[in-house]
Amino acid sequence: MNRFAKSLAEGSISLRRARPEILQVNVGKLCNLTCVHCHVNAGPKRKEIMTRETIDRIIEWFADTDIPTVDLTGGAPEMIPDFRYFIQRVKRLQPSRHVIDRCNLTILLEEGYRDLAEFFADNQVEVIASMPCYSAENVNAQRGDGVFDGSIAALQLLNSLGYGIDPALPLHLVYNPVGAFLPSPQEELEADYKRELAKHFSIVFNRLYTLSNLPIGRFAAYLRHSNQLDEYMQLLIEAFNPATIDGLMCRNTISVGWRGEVYDCDFNQQLGMQWNDGRPVFLWDVNPDCLDSREIMTGEHCFGCTAGAGSSCGGAIV
Ligand code: SF4
Ligand code: SF4
Repeated sequence: MNRFAKSLAEGSISLRRARPEILQVNVGKLCNLTCVHCHVNAGPKRKEIMTRETIDRIIEWFADTDIPTVDLTGGAPEMIPDFRYFIQRVKRLQPSRHVIDRCNLTILLEEGYRDLAEFFADNQVEVIASMPCYSAENVNAQRGDGVFDGSIAALQLLNSLGYGIDPALPLHLVYNPVGAFLPSPQEELEADYKRELAKHFSIVFNRLYTLSNLPIGRFAAYLRHSNQLDEYMQLLIEAFNPATIDGLMCRNTISVGWRGEVYDCDFNQQLGMQWNDGRPVFLWDVNPDCLDSREIMTGEHCFGCTAGAGSSCGGAIV
């Protein structure tokens, strides 16, 4: 039994699924950036990309469910050739569904993608954008030189289209720490972001989501390299907060990989913890009405989601 499962057992806590509300699709590992903290090990040379055939199978499955939201992530999800096709097909479903794009912002200014922000606005796609700090130094250290200026320009572009202003065009930012520590309280940080981005760049946005870095992927390699892995794990373990369990994203999200394979969350996906019911499970094998109470596959990385105020795709949990 891993240490996380042990902590649950000691507290007589059971971690099981509730009804699925979000289909989170990781369309591949291709990205225009190579951030230090990336748990996907994404980058410009990655070849893993969802094909149109897989998209069609996912949409067919999704159309028969009442799951209200599709959450697209990557890599930079926008870089797969059928990204717009995916969104258009989801938007044509009856009843219509909500689409979220997890965006690194800089992609919106790259050659070939400059009309994407408009496409988002036309299709009322919610944008959740990474912005690890409101200072250039910290952003560039984590994401690469020039990323801060690009992110600011992209946010201004989104604002000019009504994002963060029109209630139909939500724009949320995501903060994650630049090192081996937990995020500050979400509301305080959100107030700082709003004040600084408005003052220096006239940027507005809706919510700031604080996320903890999980000790996997490139962030784990960084911790190992700088001899901080054990210390960081200890920090997460000591900050274990049982009150976060009910709000963990693995309870209401189905995570799908670029080949259609199914996981409890995107972190488990990066660790290869695919569902296995006697054989590996793909989305088209799943009956969404039979997921209530399914046991969630855990590992020590789960302490990253339950530390302090907790961490999920929608930010702090408590
Ligand atoms: S953290 Fe996001 S933007 Fe950075 S390399 Fe990973 S997928 Fe790309
Ligand atoms: S990593 Fe987080 S979201 Fe994923 S299974 Fe563990 S607790 Fe749940």
